[in-house]
Amino acid sequence: NGKKFTLPTGLFINNEFVKSSSGAKIASINPTNEQEICSVEAASVEDIDKAVAAARAALNHESWRDMSPTDRGRLMYKLADLVEQEEDTLATIETWDNGKPLGDSHGDLLEVINTLRYYAGYADKIHGETIPTTNQKFAYTLKQPIGVCAQIIPWNYPMAMAAWKLGPALACGNTVVLKPAEQTPLSILYLASLIPKAGFPPGVVNITNGFGKEAGHALASHLDIDKVAFTGSTMTGKQIMKAASVNMKNITLETGGKSPLLVFEDADIEQAAKWAHAGIMSNMGQICTATSRILVQENIYDKFVEKFRQEVKTTSKVGDPFEEGTFQGPQVTKAQYERILSFVESGKSEGATLTDGGVPCPLNGKGYFIAPTVFTNVKNSMKIYREEVFGPFVVIVPFKAEEEAIAMANDTTYGLGSAIFTQNLELAHRVAARIEAGMVWINSSNDSDFRVPFGGVKQSGIGRELGEAGLAGYMQTKAIHVNLG
Ligand code: ADP
Repeated sequence: NGKKFTLPTGLFINNEFVKSSSGAKIASINPTNEQEICSVEAASVEDIDKAVAAARAALNHESWRDMSPTDRGRLMYKLADLVEQEEDTLATIETWDNGKPLGDSHGDLLEVINTLRYYAGYADKIHGETIPTTNQKFAYTLKQPIGVCAQIIPWNYPMAMAAWKLGPALACGNTVVLKPAEQTPLSILYLASLIPKAGFPPGVVNITNGFGKEAGHALASHLDIDKVAFTGSTMTGKQIMKAASVNMKNITLETGGKSPLLVFEDADIEQAAKWAHAGIMSNMGQICTATSRILVQENIYDKFVEKFRQEVKTTSKVGDPFEEGTFQGPQVTKAQYERILSFVESGKSEGATLTDGGVPCPLNGKGYFIAPTVFTNVKNSMKIYREEVFGPFVVIVPFKAEEEAIAMANDTTYGLGSAIFTQNLELAHRVAARIEAGMVWINSSNDSDFRVPFGGVKQSGIGRELGEAGLAGYMQTKAIHVNLG
């Protein structure tokens, strides 16, 4: 963007960037041209110990412990202001490191700013209640921070995931050790550089880049961590849950999905096709709530498929994420790109029909680009129907009527998002109530809002983020019984 800036590459502990004790580094690769941007320090188990100790000391330090909630909120507002001032730089870094179109990075940053401000406003509105019990007795509750929180985040929305987790944790007075995904640490390290500028005392927020199996596991199993909040794959979520049991940590998990989008015969097909396209193809399909299974009532199936494919042709412009008009950039890493292509092979070998895409489409011979991929003739036993692909990859399947639609929607181990397209109000609310998912969109898809709880049921997670529900995950209730007799 023409502006010069320095990219921090250290571990951020006690408000300072430091080197890894083991000398280990992680190369950050630009997925558009496959070139190394820089390498960042990778935290060892010893570094995690240092970061956790810093967060523990900060939790007990009067500068944080005794800070008035209003002042705590003010620091968070200040951080949001600094993010706003640095939005262009942060968006550029995000697009470099992650590959998402620049406009999308700006959209994510707006969400970061909104989320930080939303929770900043809550900081001085957190309080318990008074409960009369029997004669001469009553009880009151204190809402206290959980303590030192580990936050382990993924690579698909680095900045937004950091804000979703930091916002409620800090508003409630916790301290944090946050681990970015090894694939996308850069924007979060830049965010770290704004923490001291906002005035946070040392140790309140620590950022420990590192590998999942080493730094991530060290956090999830650390005896001095009180809570672990995680967003990522279901398999890793289960490992974290197991590791966190060592001292019965409080946990919040937001994991995978295979979210259904139901199109009923009376739906506005044009609108449904637009939303369905955005629901699976945005962010290169790397969305945990991606509506990756489109279920369409059989009498409008052919018409819908035609509209959807048109939408793919006219909207899914694949290209350089820094170029205006690009809808789809590269997948985040070579590993993800290869994984998606292996799903294409699986779909073909299981007998589904590949109607669009399914092939690499490099830019000047480079980059992890995949043409938007559509499969029809898909059976519910197929891997491409059951497993999360995490790419611009969709299956479109017909259903007969409402009961079958609900059964098909719920025929999954996941339960994150779901969408319903119909003009029939009764049908919409009936299906919304019966669908096994944490979130339902009626005549839209993939809407999320910082004011609304976000999370899954079944193997899509435990607990909720965002909204008031998101705060509950970062405080504990202490009951104090008083005897006046
Ligand atoms: P993906 O497989 O798409 O990279 P993951 O769910 O494995 O997604 O990664 C999400 C986050 O979890 C990343 O920050 C990663 O480093 C971290 N992670 C991966 N494995 C572990 C683990 N065993 N323990 C703790 N954190 C992990």
